[in-house]
Amino acid sequence: MNINFSDRALRIKASEIRELLKLTDQPEIISFAGGLPAAELFPLEQIAKSANEVILTHGDKALQYSATDGYLPLRKAILEQRLNKVGIQSNVDEILITSGSQQALEFTGKLFINEGDSIIVESPTYLGALNAFLVYDPKFREVRMDDKGMVMEDLERMLEEDSNVKFIYTIPDFQNPSGVTMSVGRRKKLLEIAKKYDLLIVEDSPYSELAFDCECLPPIKSFDTEGRVIHLGTYSKTFTPGLRIGWIVANPTILNKFIMIKQGADLQSSSIDQRIAAHFMENNNLDDHIKKIIEVYRARRNVMFAAMDKYFPAGIKYTKSSGGLFTWVEFREDIDTKELLAEALKENVAFVPGGSFFANGGHPNYARMNYSCMSEDQIEEGVKRIGKVIEKFYR
Ligand code: PMP
Repeated sequence: MNINFSDRALRIKASEIRELLKLTDQPEIISFAGGLPAAELFPLEQIAKSANEVILTHGDKALQYSATDGYLPLRKAILEQRLNKVGIQSNVDEILITSGSQQALEFTGKLFINEGDSIIVESPTYLGALNAFLVYDPKFREVRMDDKGMVMEDLERMLEEDSNVKFIYTIPDFQNPSGVTMSVGRRKKLLEIAKKYDLLIVEDSPYSELAFDCECLPPIKSFDTEGRVIHLGTYSKTFTPGLRIGWIVANPTILNKFIMIKQGADLQSSSIDQRIAAHFMENNNLDDHIKKIIEVYRARRNVMFAAMDKYFPAGIKYTKSSGGLFTWVEFREDIDTKELLAEALKENVAFVPGGSFFANGGHPNYARMNYSCMSEDQIEEGVKRIGKVIEKFYR
């Protein structure tokens, strides 16, 4: 049979991370590969209470179709408990609930990218965003990062050269994969540049509240007086990814288009999941839960950093991430981390080779390591095993 996929479908490639995760599901593997929150920290009892009450008292509505823009009490809770706290003063009508922020990324591609349009991404950036955008066939323009995030001079140079840019995609806090946080100065500068070139900014903020050593920085959206920033949030890393609750905050003209796209995609996010999340937010303090997660992740990160210092050869650099789920390791230029991974898997330990996080390829000597979902003992042991493997490569 001849299956005639569309050009769009042919552009979709299997995610290296997903393929890897299949392998790393086995219990004997110490995996630093995924980006999963620690499942043992999910507040199961409270979620069970919320689920029970939602079904028993409002089951008729919870199991019925509902509005595309999302359950109003949930949108209000997100606005009051999360967005206002970090200085985003939007209206509840400027919030759309999505099925995780991954859906928001897919919709962003659909809404803005014509074939051949340029979009600006950080170098490296989130693989899931690249895959979501890739379907719409853009030209990825990568902007270098340093320890304060996207380098603004490079961005301006690129914008001078390319007048076909549609938007700038950034993950300003504890970036996936690099662990880097954009400084407040750069956030303001980025908005200034976006104004100058009349561009939209897509601000993807799944990790912003997971700040271990510092206060959370104000989102770019909090400085936005024109509705130029599309802000994406999610409960996946601060609460639970299984409910698939994400949100888009955008000016009404843009948001209305997102709503129409969502109608065509899935009509609405799950009524029951939204109600469970809203009930939880009304009856529990998510801030306390986030504090608990931060304590555990900070300790795990510290163990990973100390173990890398102890077991990795000198000269290997890694991001001293001050929050989020990842650190980013830079090996000697001649090292290919895919080969390193093949050897590491023989020792039952996994990480993600960094090459796939670069929109236009290259950079084989990087790796992303996650510290959120293995125990401190596993982290110490896993890093030790990787250290042994690296020694063979560094001879
Ligand atoms: N953006 C970034 C930067 C991410 O790291 C992730 C998840 N790994 C997502 C978006 C998607 O998360 P979710 O769909 O679970 O909200």
